Amino acid sequence: MAYYRDLDRCTYFAPECDDALVAVGWLGTWARLSSGSVDPQFFERLESLANRPWRPFLYLGGQECGLCQHRGPFFTANLFIPYGGRTFAAPEGITHYISAHWYQPPDEFVLAVHRLSRDAQCRVRSSPRGERRSTACTSLRPTLGR
Ligand SMILES: [Zn+2]
Repeated sequence: MAYYRDLDRCTYFAPECDDALVAVGWLGTWARLSSGSVDPQFFERLESLANRPWRPFLYLGGQECGLCQHRGPFFTANLFIPYGGRTFAAPEGITHYISAHWYQPPDEFVLAVHRLSRDAQCRVRSSPRGERRSTACTSLRPTLGR
C-alpha cells in the first residue's frame, strides 16, 4: 500500500492533482499510528461519505488492510474531501482504520468532514491496469490549491 504521513502532499493520483491533494489515512504496515477515540458523529459522517454509491468507473484492483493480523478487508476506492482551499485524499479504508485499529485522523480532516456537503464529495477509482484516473481530479481542479 502507498504510504504518506498525514497532511503530506499526496502524489498517488494524476500529476495535475499532486500539488493540491493532502494525504490522510495512507497508513503503511509499519506506520506509527496516531491513535485514540474519534467523535461518533464524525465517524458516522465519514462512513456515510465512504458508502456513497456513486461509482464513475469499474475497478479490478485494490489493497488489503496491512494492519489486520490476518485477512484484512480489501479496499478499492478513495475519498476526496475539499475544505479550506485544499482537498484531502484518503483511502476508503480509513473508516476501517478508525474502527478496527483506533486510527485518529488529524483535526483538520475531522473538521473538513463535519463541514462537507454531500454534493461536494468525490470518489475516484483507479483503472483495471492501475493507471491513475484524473476524471474526478479534473472536476475538483477549480477548487484545488486556492
Ligand atoms: Zn485492518
